[in-house]
Amino acid sequence: MTLERMDRNYVLSTYARNYTAFVRGEGSTLYTDDGRDFIDFGSGIGVNSIGHSHPELTDALCDQAHKILHISNLQVIEPQARLAGRLVELSGYDMRVFFGNSGAEANEAAIKIARKYGETHFEKKRFKVITLKHSFHGRTITTVKATGQGKFHTPFFAPYPDGFSYEPTIEAVYGALDDETAAVMLELVQGEGGVQPLDKAAVQDLAHHLREQGILLIIDEVQTGVYRTGKFLASQLYEIEPDIVTLAKGLGGGVPIGAAMTRLKDIFSPGDHGSTFGGNYLSTRAGLTVLDVLERMDDAGELAQTQLLFDEKLSDVLRRHGDRFEDLVGLGLMRGLRARDPETQSAIIDAAFAAGVIVLKAGRNTVRFLPGLTISSDEITEGFDRFEKALHTL
Ligand SMILES: *Cc1c(COP(=O)(O)O)cnc(C)c1O
Repeated sequence: MTLERMDRNYVLSTYARNYTAFVRGEGSTLYTDDGRDFIDFGSGIGVNSIGHSHPELTDALCDQAHKILHISNLQVIEPQARLAGRLVELSGYDMRVFFGNSGAEANEAAIKIARKYGETHFEKKRFKVITLKHSFHGRTITTVKATGQGKFHTPFFAPYPDGFSYEPTIEAVYGALDDETAAVMLELVQGEGGVQPLDKAAVQDLAHHLREQGILLIIDEVQTGVYRTGKFLASQLYEIEPDIVTLAKGLGGGVPIGAAMTRLKDIFSPGDHGSTFGGNYLSTRAGLTVLDVLERMDDAGELAQTQLLFDEKLSDVLRRHGDRFEDLVGLGLMRGLRARDPETQSAIIDAAFAAGVIVLKAGRNTVRFLPGLTISSDEITEGFDRFEKALHTL
């Protein structure tokens, strides 16, 4: 049976799948079994933050597998404690960390923290969480309800939990706050929604107002975190101090991990929350290794250089192809080219793939670029040469 037949026969259909199978990756280059190579500007949707088969990560994972992969959270786990310490240290925030296995789980933990805070800190119970339109917070019943996009709230999965509402802008959030509001949850750069950064001053004003009101600010950094936007956290770039920060995608370099960090260091007691796999030896060792690599590159100025080159190339594309693109958006290595319309967006993504470069969709009309942060200048140049060729085939 062919791989495609097997997949179609046995795997539930939840993705519009591309049936090109990659068997190997090195840096930001992927290889198929029939020997074709692709430049990877998608990094597994922002996951392969240090590229494919990075020797340090490969060695760390093999070493860890030889020792111990998993023991329950009933025991103390050395790399888990060390990774929590690293996250706190790199963020500069006085926080503690809970580990899960995905972005949705990190956001579930954040919402649970907000709910418990709302239950225990006010005379009248607070349970509402306000998010923004075009946001994306996950696929569990609760995090999909927290997501401010109607297309995800299909009647198939109703009833959804109460207490979520969506505002079109930061400015509109003020009017939505009431005596049942526990938290506001934001992505500083909306990823799935179209690589749209929020206005820095507006976010700072809101953060200040929420702190005064005792309402929690949750920053969903599942996509923006781990140096994606240039700093360890986008929250640092925005110079705010959130109450809760969530991380996932880039943190494990491909090993599933999620984390919710909070200033409310004593919010949970044993039994309040948990995860069988969360923070095990394998995923936290991966996280430590990813942070080692990226912190070193950041200190050496290499991340900033990569960003600069990538930005130059994107600006070139926009300048030369103003007929197809109307804007260049995003921060750091989380970037988007706004296509003229959704049809142009799809055609470009398909043509790019045919030319050997992987780019992603976001929002209605954005072509999204989320390269591995370790991508080389040769790979960037080759990727944009292929992208240029793809545009000429249209
Ligand atoms: C991807 C994403 C999620 C969901 O993460 P999963 O690991 O797929 O559960 C949540 N929030 C944001 C901002 C994301 O980009």
